[in-house]
Amino acid sequence: MGDWITITEEQHNYKLEHFNIPQHYAEDVSSILIPHGLIIDRIEKLAKTIISQYSDRLVVCCVLKGGHQFFADLVNFLKSFTNSQGKNLPISLDFIRVSSYENDSSTGHVKISMSEKELRGLKGKDVLIVEDIIDTGRTMVSLLEYLKKFELKSLKVASLFIKRTPLSNGFIPDYVGFSVPDLFIVGYCLDYNDHFRDLNHVCAISPEGKIKYQN
Ligand code: 5GP
Repeated sequence: MGDWITITEEQHNYKLEHFNIPQHYAEDVSSILIPHGLIIDRIEKLAKTIISQYSDRLVVCCVLKGGHQFFADLVNFLKSFTNSQGKNLPISLDFIRVSSYENDSSTGHVKISMSEKELRGLKGKDVLIVEDIIDTGRTMVSLLEYLKKFELKSLKVASLFIKRTPLSNGFIPDYVGFSVPDLFIVGYCLDYNDHFRDLNHVCAISPEGKIKYQN
């Protein structure tokens, strides 16, 4: 069992009417799996753990677009912990764009976009990749393989979610927020064809939502 919170479909099926859901998504999600407040509290703890494990300049690298909200909240907590602990740990920010999904399925083709100049700038640095979710693990394994040639000092991965799927290639990130069931989840910047990024809670998409926003 990894060091994360396990979300089950049966126990974490909060009714939509118990939380505030934007009107435009009322029909498009079937239940709330993780309310926003719980996500934030978990990120605070991840940040505290991360801060305790680094002592040199840290490059925090956001995987766009899905990882953006997790990245923003994580970095805020990292900054407040370094300040409140008086810790000498400068943090720089970087961004990498990775895409592999069409509708709710992995295409198997991983496209990585970051300039060669920026990638060469990572040489000799401690880098923490910040990702939204590990599903099959294919995207992250390809990204790590790609980054290897740039001779980083260290390379770790923080993912807010890891999915319990039989299709997993076994990749486990260094820091994980929650383990989630084998469902397509949206909200907290996780999208379905670029929709639902403006939903705060993590929800299971409804069959109607899948049809409505299909490409
Ligand atoms: P993997 O390569 O691990 O199968 O997929 C990783 C990427 O697929 C994630 O970065 C994310 O963009 C997308 N993804 C996988 N599962 C989900 C999901 O349940 N919901 C959303 N919104 N994206 C997912």
